Amino acid sequence: MARTLLEGGWIVTMDDAGTEHPDGWVLLDDGMIEEVGSGQPPEADIVRGLNGAVVTPGLINVHHHLCQTLTRARAQEADLLTWLQALLPVWKGLDAEAVYAAARTGIAELALAGCTTVFDHHYVFPRGADGIVEAEVQAAKELGVRIVASRGSMDFGQSRGGLAPDWIVEDRDHVLAETERLAALHENGAGARVQIAVAPCTAFTATPELMRESAELARRHGLRLHTHLAEVVDEERYCREVYNCRPIEFLAEVGWLDHDVWCAHCVHLREDEVELMATTKTGVAHCPTSNLRLGCGIAPVRTMLDRSVAVGLGVDGSASNERSDLLLEVKQALLVARAKGDPAALTAREALRLGTRGGAHVLGRDDLGSLTAGKCADLAVWRTDILELGGADDLVAGLVLSAPHRVGSLYVGGELVVDGGALVRAEELEIAGEHRTQARRFSERS
Ligand code: ZN
Repeated sequence: MARTLLEGGWIVTMDDAGTEHPDGWVLLDDGMIEEVGSGQPPEADIVRGLNGAVVTPGLINVHHHLCQTLTRARAQEADLLTWLQALLPVWKGLDAEAVYAAARTGIAELALAGCTTVFDHHYVFPRGADGIVEAEVQAAKELGVRIVASRGSMDFGQSRGGLAPDWIVEDRDHVLAETERLAALHENGAGARVQIAVAPCTAFTATPELMRESAELARRHGLRLHTHLAEVVDEERYCREVYNCRPIEFLAEVGWLDHDVWCAHCVHLREDEVELMATTKTGVAHCPTSNLRLGCGIAPVRTMLDRSVAVGLGVDGSASNERSDLLLEVKQALLVARAKGDPAALTAREALRLGTRGGAHVLGRDDLGSLTAGKCADLAVWRTDILELGGADDLVAGLVLSAPHRVGSLYVGGELVVDGGALVRAEELEIAGEHRTQARRFSERS
């Protein structure tokens, strides 16, 4: 691959020191970053002018349910459990074809908003619907982004006193066998484009046995573990009644507080529980828009960061956050942190760090999340000649505070995936059209 120089932009490296080069350049070679700096740029085969753009590491989304793009704007005033009751029956019709269309849409949205690595938590596997996770992986490969797909699961149904409808509940041995099969797709090492995570849905839909055996399987294969935690207060009451403990105690009991685990939401954690996340090095996927949409509350992210908890950002599924835009989530993280009454609770750069370095950390990806020599060449190039950034001397803060924005261009492993604000490898309107065809199958009006 030719050595490519991007020059004349504001380079936000997100290195440990927070180094920025307001008039800088980045040299890419063979899918990796070779050098970043300012002043006289090095020689290169291809030179592209940045025209003053802000260049950040590609954003990393650490919680999503891509299939939910098919069922947006439902249960509009519902809390989480009512929302689930409304939506779960609709998802019974999911199959690989629908999930493929949904994944293309969600991933295209994310890429057009600067995201280079997408995690998806899929836990709906109707009987006989094969190839669902493979369909997501296929969509990501076609569009050119990195994916961490997961095999989600539920094995604690209503007929046994659980909350999940019985049709969605799977046999534990089947879940584990399927997860084991999908583990073959997992790539190790720097630059991996496809990874697999193991992800039972929640403490109230998975049995302790499934949680324990999933953890054993994951650790045997070197896969990471993911689940939802402390999203709503109801979860505390449920865990108290069924397991006589708090949700986080349930996770500790089944071996799920560790450096290879990250949990979505973590809204309702007490201070001592945040401390426990820190000491066990368990990561967090903060999903502010979804938490606001469902009235769940606001995760104590400032406290988490002060205790050195690893925190990344997630858009969450499109039925509880209709827009898959991680830069918007960066801004939302900043706003909700400040909503408690402190305008200094989270700075624009701290928020941007959550969406880049933070996400890389919780996914266990040292090769992603910063623009320094030896890291993957995953870059988001944001135009600064747009209306919304006029008058902003600090273009980095301006970018965050005026989000959302469509990314100008996006590189994944040095390859252009978005250019001129458009997908390079696919037609946006074709994706949207195919998605509408599939979404009609789930429509309340059909
Ligand atoms: Zn979720």
